[in-house]
Amino acid sequence: MIAPGPHRLLVALLLGILAGMMFGGLVPEWGKAVQFLGDLFLRALFVMVVPLVMSSMIVGVSSVGDVRTLGGLGFRTILFFVTTTGLAVLVGLLLVVIIHPGTPLLQESSDLTSESGYSLSQRMEDRPTTVAELLKSILMNLVPQNLLKAMVNVDVLPLIIFSLVFGSVLTTLGERGQFVIRFFEGVNEAIMGMVHLLMWTAPVGIGALIAGRLGEAGGFSGFWPQLIQLGAYAATVILALLIHGMVTLPLFLQLLGKQNVLTYVRNMGTALTTAFSTGSSSATLPLTMECAIGRHRVSKRIASFVLPLGATINMNGTALYEAIAAMFIAQTYGIELDLGQTVIIFLTATLAAIGAAGIPEAGLVTMVIVLKAVNLPVEGISLLLVIDWFLDRCRTSVNVWGDAVGAAVIDQLEGHEHEESTRQP
Ligand code: ASP
Repeated sequence: MIAPGPHRLLVALLLGILAGMMFGGLVPEWGKAVQFLGDLFLRALFVMVVPLVMSSMIVGVSSVGDVRTLGGLGFRTILFFVTTTGLAVLVGLLLVVIIHPGTPLLQESSDLTSESGYSLSQRMEDRPTTVAELLKSILMNLVPQNLLKAMVNVDVLPLIIFSLVFGSVLTTLGERGQFVIRFFEGVNEAIMGMVHLLMWTAPVGIGALIAGRLGEAGGFSGFWPQLIQLGAYAATVILALLIHGMVTLPLFLQLLGKQNVLTYVRNMGTALTTAFSTGSSSATLPLTMECAIGRHRVSKRIASFVLPLGATINMNGTALYEAIAAMFIAQTYGIELDLGQTVIIFLTATLAAIGAAGIPEAGLVTMVIVLKAVNLPVEGISLLLVIDWFLDRCRTSVNVWGDAVGAAVIDQLEGHEHEESTRQP
């Protein structure tokens, strides 16, 4: 299947982003007018998530073979995810304490709820609000009650668990099991072929999504005041994301993954820009897999396992943002937190990120857990709404980057015989 060359695609993507910014930023109406092209791209991505996740997992687990090997792989993967998430929260906490973006003044002057365009209480419905509830809901979520319902809702985690067990059992069925596995191999290759094709449209899709969202925000003239209003807070989140994405994760990639960071960034370019333009790790997953496997030649066996899992539970950017946002709310309300409470924020932000779905602004909802754990006012979330659409896109890019780095590192640790020359520079 022919896919666009990496250089040409990167140039086309940058042009698409630039055009999108100009369209939506300068003439909001035009931005809104082309939004449907972005939505089409988003739909095309989403439609591939379920068959891709299920077929990758089934094929992946059957090629891993021994369940004990799978256990080791699973353990290393989770350990990597938890370590990088913890480091991300640490960076976030350090920066928010040093920069101290929240001043009690802001509390009086802000009435941001109305500008956000959606009601917070609507989003909070039926969501866990305490750590115990969250843990219970994550556990319950591992087992789908109805497979089709999980597929319809694109609930990736239960689908992963189902496919893992299904694939493992297939390997015990001899001839007939092999037949089903080969069927899913075909499904998997077909979907990857479709993702290849879709990459041709990425520059337009991504550009249109950016144009549409900027248009919705009222163009540059509507967006700048939003950014400035929460400038110190937004700057803290962005700085922490940059440190995590450009220092911490590359260190892992270089030292443990033995990869050239720039080459990997370039190869992951389409996925990273798609994450920014969609604000959804799940929607980006097909492209994350295509870039990692198809372009960078991370072994399919590892990437098929690590990336879908990462898109669901590994959210470095979200974790860091949850911690900063909670501390910002405390600062804004003039509430002093002691060391014990800060540790609780550290732990709950990590959990809240694991529990957040890979969809736009999911982290905003799970933040209630962090706030409640240290008795901070939940209404404080309304302070953040106005700018969350933008920060969500930034953190989603770091979430996807964290998954990609995870795949490369685990691949190396699992002894993939990398051929540097096979990777597209
Ligand atoms: N939008 C993020 C993602 O899909 C989750 C979040 O932080 O809201 O990765």
